[in-house]
Amino acid sequence: MFVYADNAATTKMSKLAIETMVPYYESVFGNPSSLHSAGQEAKEALENARATVAACLGCDPREIYFTSGGSEADNQAIISAARYGARKNKKHIISTAFEHHAVLHTLNKLEKEGYEITLLDVKEGHNVTAQQVKDAIREDTCLVTCMYANNEIGSVLPIGEIGAICKEAGVPFHTDAVQAAGHLHIDVKAQNIDMLSLSAHKFHGPKGVGVLYVRRGFPMTNLIEGGAQERSKRAGTENIPGICALAAALKDACDHMEEHTATVTAMRDKLIEGLSQIPHCALNGDPVNRLPGNVSFCFEGIEGESLLLLLDMHGICASSGSACTSGSLDPSHVLLAIGRVHDVAHGSLRLSLSHYNTMEEIDHILTYVPKVVQQLRNMSPVWRDLQNGVREYIL
Ligand SMILES: *Cc1c(COP(=O)(O)O)cnc(C)c1O
Repeated sequence: MFVYADNAATTKMSKLAIETMVPYYESVFGNPSSLHSAGQEAKEALENARATVAACLGCDPREIYFTSGGSEADNQAIISAARYGARKNKKHIISTAFEHHAVLHTLNKLEKEGYEITLLDVKEGHNVTAQQVKDAIREDTCLVTCMYANNEIGSVLPIGEIGAICKEAGVPFHTDAVQAAGHLHIDVKAQNIDMLSLSAHKFHGPKGVGVLYVRRGFPMTNLIEGGAQERSKRAGTENIPGICALAAALKDACDHMEEHTATVTAMRDKLIEGLSQIPHCALNGDPVNRLPGNVSFCFEGIEGESLLLLLDMHGICASSGSACTSGSLDPSHVLLAIGRVHDVAHGSLRLSLSHYNTMEEIDHILTYVPKVVQQLRNMSPVWRDLQNGVREYIL
């Protein structure tokens, strides 16, 4: 059995998204900037896609900018707010300790330029509260950027409440909604969101295309200079096939959100319930305000990498927070941020589901994860020490 349970990393494209792309390679391949009919046809497709995305987010099409993905949208949102803030002598930014690196690394860069960054603590409940945001806002705060939902541990943040607080304080509010778009209800006006990032490949669209929503009138800084595309805020010939597929996939996800949420949540809850039976484990992330498809655990006495490799041999594609892929042996900043100590954080497992998963697949996962955890523990010197009382259990 092959089970793809790594949908937080990327999703399989839907047939709809694939079929939407094809005509824009085969026949409607013009450059939207061209004045001839082939170009104008592409331009029309682009503007239709923009209107579709705007309708899904509850904003005006003129507030939608297409980008190369979530990372670019995050970078541009944060840099825009930072540059605007500097012009008013405001150089303080509030964010959270468990943001995606697209946000954290941009903030690191700004810190080196003299901005002051406050990262809100996420240990309590593996989440932040609107009150934490409120308490952190200062006279010189030029941006609050908090993710809508965490990609590793699934916590869903109180975005509407944070938006209301930012609005009241007159501080621009950006949210990285890459994990939320197409999965959770978004209404940028009702939630007082000034800027929002999303990415097509997290909701069964293609890779390499995303959106930055920016409230009308908010001054943007370009990351890419060149032509006058995207109202001169993002140069480069538009990725029409990708943009049209993004719009179709987002609309499809929003149209079927309730139904998908119900199926995915049922599978998630069965997995959480089943995996909780493994001794000396802990669920990561907010147990209540949680993405429908996220399951994240730490198992004491094992290495996440070995777990992934063994699960892969049983056909299960999962992920671990302790990514040594980057050549670093440091456990995930997210797991450390919620207070997991290094040893525990190393034994992490993330299973992220989509509506393409089935209950049979959940049963397959529930058969093999406990076996593989036990198999690894049997070989682990750390586990032996824990069992012999030489070391104390943390979980
Ligand atoms: C995937 C992801 C990103 C990056 O999006 P890309 O389109 O891959 O650049 C940013 N933030 C979060 C929360 C993500 O899950």
